Amino acid sequence: MKFPRTLNRYCPHCRKHQKMNVTIYKKGKENSQAQGKRRFEKKKKGYGSFPKEIFHKNAKINKRTTPLLECSECGKKIYTKSYRIKKFELQEV
Ligand SMILES: [Zn+2]
Repeated sequence: MKFPRTLNRYCPHCRKHQKMNVTIYKKGKENSQAQGKRRFEKKKKGYGSFPKEIFHKNAKINKRTTPLLECSECGKKIYTKSYRIKKFELQEV
């Protein structure tokens, strides 16, 4: 899928249409001090099997790609509809 690098979209912070710069959303670095991570590490310690089941029956082939819009005026980021597609390209229009 081809997606424009810049678009004109509504910004809820500026309350009007603004020029948006498009990037692709990427997952941030996981925090090792987070509560869920600490609990999981504690559960893995000692005897016994792995505490969570390991998922093998993957039916879906493609992962979701989310375009992330950044307002050129206020700099706030806006998440948009995501797509399950094999190939996602940003291009100049
Ligand atoms: Zn804005």
